[in-house]
Amino acid sequence: MNKISDGMRARLALEKNGFRFQHTLGQNFLLNDNLVESIVDCAQVGEEDDVLEIGPGAGLMTVIMSRRVKSVTALEIDRALEPVLGEMLDDADNARVIFADAMKTDLNALMPGRFAVVANLPYYITADMVTRLLTSGLDISSITIMVQKEAAERMTACVGDSQYCLLAATIAYYAQCEIVMEVPPSAFTPMPHVDSALLRIVPHAEKPVRAEDEKLFMKVLTAAFAMRRKTLANNLSRAFSAPRDTVTAWLQNAGIDEKARGEAVELSSLARLADEIWRSRAVM
Ligand code: SAM
Repeated sequence: MNKISDGMRARLALEKNGFRFQHTLGQNFLLNDNLVESIVDCAQVGEEDDVLEIGPGAGLMTVIMSRRVKSVTALEIDRALEPVLGEMLDDADNARVIFADAMKTDLNALMPGRFAVVANLPYYITADMVTRLLTSGLDISSITIMVQKEAAERMTACVGDSQYCLLAATIAYYAQCEIVMEVPPSAFTPMPHVDSALLRIVPHAEKPVRAEDEKLFMKVLTAAFAMRRKTLANNLSRAFSAPRDTVTAWLQNAGIDEKARGEAVELSSLARLADEIWRSRAVM
């Protein structure tokens, strides 16, 4: 007798337990074994890797990864998935599911060593989660996430692109980021109204651009994108409650045109600017 696929096991477990998909939790599941195997291939994780999965859903990706990696820790917000995940992961001794909101979980305590992130991310937390993963000092080897295609395009945009935004700049400071697969709505159950894309984000081993004080740099970056119609000088003045002549001096010393808009300025110049502010504040 043919063994049923993991995807079919997941479908049957969802049906048997009367699971109802919740749109507000971004519940669009991947239930096709081949596609999930390809996503895990793209993640390039192996038997040395501890993996954090955010939102395991019915657990198809969790079970497929558990056969390839050292351990999987999955954070799922929806307790209604407990019996489904229990069935799916019955034999997966190296997988643990924690029922908690990933946005409120202390990831440094949960994943104290080096780890990779692999997830079909609930789209409503994409930007906050990626920012958090990159800026919290976690020891992350790579992040492979399914996101909405438009979000993926924004996240991989460069200075000068119309889509360039705070999230793209933050990612570029901390990591390299590329789209590695495009996925149509028909791959999900239920089908979303949008296309999706798989992003692979690999934190820089050595940052090409580095600011002395990263918190201050993030404040500069946030200010640079705060009001897109205003100049960087205006946005800085507001964010740092600094008089105009102080801001002018910061910009001049960092070699940035006083009339420039934040989104048109290269990361290396913004890092110089942050260092300039850091130095001038140190002597204040
Ligand atoms: N990984 C599964 C798959 O590919 O089939 C499910 C992906 S589905 C897009 C997103 C999952 O994240 C859902 O299971 C949902 O309940 C869960 N989720 C939503 N918000 C969450 C949060 N804040 N913390 C943890 N899990 C969350």
